[in-house]
Amino acid sequence: MRNTLHLLCTALACLLGALLPAGAVNVITSTTDLAAITRAVGGSRVKVESLAQPTQDLHRVEPRPSFVAKLSRADLVVRVGMDLDMWMDSLISAARNSNVRKGGAGYVDASAGLKALEVPTGKVDGSKGDIHIHGNPHYWLDPENGKLIARNILAGLKRVDPAGARTYQDNYADFVTRLDEKIARWEAQMQPLRGAKVVTYHTTWSYFNQRFSLKLAGTMEVKPGIPPSASHINRLIGAMKREGARIVMTTNYYPTRYTDLVTRETGAAILVLPTSVGGVKGADDYFGLFQTTIDQLLKAR
Ligand SMILES: [Zn+2]
Repeated sequence: MRNTLHLLCTALACLLGALLPAGAVNVITSTTDLAAITRAVGGSRVKVESLAQPTQDLHRVEPRPSFVAKLSRADLVVRVGMDLDMWMDSLISAARNSNVRKGGAGYVDASAGLKALEVPTGKVDGSKGDIHIHGNPHYWLDPENGKLIARNILAGLKRVDPAGARTYQDNYADFVTRLDEKIARWEAQMQPLRGAKVVTYHTTWSYFNQRFSLKLAGTMEVKPGIPPSASHINRLIGAMKREGARIVMTTNYYPTRYTDLVTRETGAAILVLPTSVGGVKGADDYFGLFQTTIDQLLKAR
């Protein structure tokens, strides 16, 4: 009996240890994608939590007092940047934790070093509702950019926890190796869809489409952040018929009114895809996010 009890206690301690490692680096990320990559690089040395839910429009996350409390206790903060998670600014400033403010050792903008797509060339007037004023911020949806994100997180973890530098470096190398293998596999799987014309609700998948050679025939939104209008959708339906666009990529938080109309008029398949890790069943980590998306695209072909 005593032995069984001892074993049970050891197992319990082990389990608790795995869940809450003593002295773990406390990381708060704005999104679940950044949390997943931080977990991959940080391993058992980190405790990670995302503020946004995976099924939320990341442009429009409602700040909560509990977020401020979490940021005030954070050792490291990781954000998307490029104004996608602008809601983080007021939260970080309210948290009064100088370490995780911009320029602090515990601050990581995961977009640092990114080659951004769709950077506006002319003057941009944000007051008209355009929400991609520095270019397209949905860069985590190109798996190649997962390496850049991981590299930025690696640098941040080494700054706040130098004792773990070797572990982080090894975990990062493993992540990149695994990602490279997956990218080769995904590119092979997506081969039959190369050059396929697609419509996206928002320009969420521009980086994804570039990586896998899908061609954008139009967006449901008039512009990023500006909802569809009847006249815009009429023009889009015309363009889809002319160009043979058979796939519409949308996600759970966009309305279905106009996508239903587009299906009726064009017969295109509407794919409700995850935009973040945890967004659908199976998208449990950064790899699963792409696999579930690719599986749906291949089924719709
Ligand atoms: Zn956007």
